[in-house]
Amino acid sequence: MHEYSLVTELVEECQRRAGQRRVRSVTVRCPVTVDRLELKTLFVAVSTEHHMAGVRFEIETVNTPWRCTCGYEGELPPEAHVGHLAVCPRCSVVQPLEDVLELVAVDTET
Ligand SMILES: [Zn+2]
Repeated sequence: MHEYSLVTELVEECQRRAGQRRVRSVTVRCPVTVDRLELKTLFVAVSTEHHMAGVRFEIETVNTPWRCTCGYEGELPPEAHVGHLAVCPRCSVVQPLEDVLELVAVDTET
């Protein structure tokens, strides 16, 4: 599962940044098209496996313009994306949505 490896990488990066300190909260940024509930559920599962249970997980969403090969560029209306697929509002081509998960901040105990 693709998201699982993304979240695993994220948690490992948090641990690298935290070093010996305990992580209190993690903030990430992702496109609005990402299923936030799924992301949060995965984060809880992966962070628990990595002995980071109880970490607060904040998700910031960004409205990144989406680009199609036909030249369309803009926000995707909610009905134009289904799961991990986007349907171009102009040419109706179906494309996979990119999973972008950006680590914004790792807050640790001092
Ligand atoms: Zn298009």
